[in-house]
Amino acid sequence: MQFQNLARKNEIGANCYHLETSDCSIVLDSGMHPKHEGPDALPAHHELPPHSVDAIVLSHAHLDHTGTIPVIMRDQEDAPLYLTEATSHLAKALLHNSVNVMQHKRLELGITEYPLYGHRELDRLAKRWEPKPYEKPWKINRDTQLSFYDAGHILGSAGVMIESEGKRVFYTGDIQFEDQTLITGARFPEENIDALIIETTRGAAPRAPGYDRQSEEDKLLQAILDTIERGGSALIPVFAMGKTQEVLTMIHKFKSDGRLPEKTPVYMGGLSTKMTHIFDDLSDSTSRKLPDFKILEDMDINTGSKKHKGAPITYRPGAIFCLSSGMMSENTTSNIFAQTFVSNPKNSLLFVGYCDPDSPGGAIRETRHGDIIRLSKDKDPVVLNCPVEIFDFSGHATRDAILDYILRVQAKQVFLVHGDLPASEWFQQQLAERLPNCDCIIPLPSKKYSI
Ligand SMILES: [Zn+2]
Ligand SMILES: [Zn+2]
Repeated sequence: MQFQNLARKNEIGANCYHLETSDCSIVLDSGMHPKHEGPDALPAHHELPPHSVDAIVLSHAHLDHTGTIPVIMRDQEDAPLYLTEATSHLAKALLHNSVNVMQHKRLELGITEYPLYGHRELDRLAKRWEPKPYEKPWKINRDTQLSFYDAGHILGSAGVMIESEGKRVFYTGDIQFEDQTLITGARFPEENIDALIIETTRGAAPRAPGYDRQSEEDKLLQAILDTIERGGSALIPVFAMGKTQEVLTMIHKFKSDGRLPEKTPVYMGGLSTKMTHIFDDLSDSTSRKLPDFKILEDMDINTGSKKHKGAPITYRPGAIFCLSSGMMSENTTSNIFAQTFVSNPKNSLLFVGYCDPDSPGGAIRETRHGDIIRLSKDKDPVVLNCPVEIFDFSGHATRDAILDYILRVQAKQVFLVHGDLPASEWFQQQLAERLPNCDCIIPLPSKKYSI
């Protein structure tokens, strides 16, 4: 077999990989780079001649894995897309939203290539999507079969086992081994794996000593209670898919335990509502905790003005605002809401996920209390007067958990992907000492490696 990294750099960007078996050409994921625009945001699709791919496999719905799936499906007209049922629903909603974002950027930034695909084309291509369950292998050709394993990262996330030529190659996608508040941890195979293609997101970031998720939840609750006590509100910037539902489930738990007053108003908006509907619809058919819990039915959530759909969410004291986007990108609900919110010292801004240092959320985290910050280029700067706290509810496994998994599997070859170079290099150093017979590779973009 041959493995090829089709990301343009060793980083978390437009993730895409190519595996060539004796009788099949398989593409694993096709993401869109979150920090680049236009053609630069695409993976190195040009390495693959048109009509040469037999199957495309999608690990999960995040855009760094999904964002250019319609482009590769257009180029590779014969290839079906394999994914889980939950991923198919989430990816469809996210990709349609992505069309809207690209249409907006075409007007705002004059990127003439946008949108890279349209709504109708997306619906047409989705007819070639073939959902598959976890742990039930299926053949894609005479000598090649695939199977999905629950990756515990977000709803529907999967690692994929590729079996061909008597060898077993396992691509992990993004992983979380620990249970989250709503999503249960990964259930990954460990036996007879010849090669691992594994994510290294947190390789350069050790977890804070003494961390455990329960006390992190307790700290978040305390921050909310302190805020309400002093007459303010809490703004929690969240990604529409995944983090929103995790945080809402936490709030539901706090209320059911009697630790947070039942009447505390909770707000969410925009795309988050659509995504939460999908989570609720799939509640009893996917591996997640609380199968009977339906967020929108069981929680009394305000989704903005009932009369005017899409009307902006207005501030009130004593409330929790879970608004997307998680990085407070310009023109998103959390960014617009924060413009007046952060100058009120009674409020608090609570981060529960990753923020790119170049994003407005990342900038706020670097701003000192009382300093001035510009959240949007079209708006006046504001004074950061409210407390800012950061919590660790990562959907990615710690580097130690991933290293332990690699050591248990003892594959002959390990390809370290989905990480900045310092992150992948940490794994390479650890494995050089602890698994000296393993061929441990940070795959150069476009170079072909034999398995
Ligand atoms: Zn992901
Ligand atoms: Zn990812």
